[in-house]
Amino acid sequence: MKIRVGILGATGAVGQKFISLLEGHPWFEITAVAASARSAGRAYGEVVNWIEKGPIPEAIARLEVQEARSDHPNLACDFVFSGLDASVAGDVEEAFARAGYAVISNAKNFRMHPDVPLLIPEVNPEHLALIERQDWGSSGYIVTNPNCASVGLTMTLKPLHDAFGIKQVHVTTMQALSGAGYPGVASLDALGNVVPHIGGEEDKLETEPQRLLGGLEVPADFETSAQCNRVPVVDGHTACVSVSFVRPPSSLDAVKKAIRAFRPPLEVNGLPTSPDRALELLGPENAPQPRTHVDLGKGMTVSIGRLRPCPLLDVKFVCLVHNTIRGAAGGAILNAELLAQKGKILRKNSEL
Ligand code: NAP
Repeated sequence: MKIRVGILGATGAVGQKFISLLEGHPWFEITAVAASARSAGRAYGEVVNWIEKGPIPEAIARLEVQEARSDHPNLACDFVFSGLDASVAGDVEEAFARAGYAVISNAKNFRMHPDVPLLIPEVNPEHLALIERQDWGSSGYIVTNPNCASVGLTMTLKPLHDAFGIKQVHVTTMQALSGAGYPGVASLDALGNVVPHIGGEEDKLETEPQRLLGGLEVPADFETSAQCNRVPVVDGHTACVSVSFVRPPSSLDAVKKAIRAFRPPLEVNGLPTSPDRALELLGPENAPQPRTHVDLGKGMTVSIGRLRPCPLLDVKFVCLVHNTIRGAAGGAILNAELLAQKGKILRKNSEL
């Protein structure tokens, strides 16, 4: 019997990606979908504006959409993924945690809460210990995954921080349209254009990597300056990054070696959504590119290229992350798999 999961925000871009990625999942099956009052009460297949490739899985298309409400946190499932809009995610996710559900969230609302893990399984699985400090008056808890651009940056910084200690980071992103949800940026703003502002994004990039690379109590001690741009790319956030180190490496080869030697903690290997390679250092001087490399590792591999000396800091490179897979739904599914493997997500005895 699989573990039953509900999707909060099931009609959105991230919600739809959950539905695509969970089709045929060996451990989890979707038994409930929820969204706003605008969508509630009708079959999922009738209300959703489906933007994923391929048809809506038949069993999901037939499910009646429930309203994701903070005053009635009740879905026929064992735990929930949240792809809710941040304007409602705080209240609704807290209500589900209080009602005893494990909430695996993509939204920003609880990411910096001191007792809520901000998790990338390959980077900081030990942060799951924070769950024990949560007290929602039930067995429920909340685990979050980082901002989509933070995921790519942090995974790339992880082996460098372990080997050399990060001192300073300068990052400029070129972020895909799908990162703004659906319908997102108006076509007349996006096409043939670059929008040099994404509300709140720079602050997330300047704080989340330190939390992920730090201990339970104290974030890692480095400074970041971020500039974020929206570009007319469908999927894939690209970042141009310069880094200085506390213990500068002896050569560029030492940096390459550290990236290539990166191995996720053993407990992550073999999880159904874990890619063969979490990080891939690419050789060609024009890589990575979203169109070519965004789907590496079924969208779960972060690719790195153009590694070279930086005349201002120590080294510079380009990294690329699939924003709705590794940066959102795929990352959250990997988080849930790690929790399930640790016995923190169980099938409840209640009948549907
Ligand atoms: P989206 O396409 O705008 O979807 C938002 C979802 O929230 C929809 O299902 C919507 O339901 C639901 N919703 C909105 N208002 C609601 C309300 N008052 N009550 C209940 N449900 C409500 O957004 P998205 O891109 O999927 O992003 C979802 C979340 O993930 C956001 O918090 C976002 O910041 C985060 N995130 C997104 C990405 C990405 O790459 N897109 C990456 C990482 C994290 P209706 O359809 O019924 O309105």
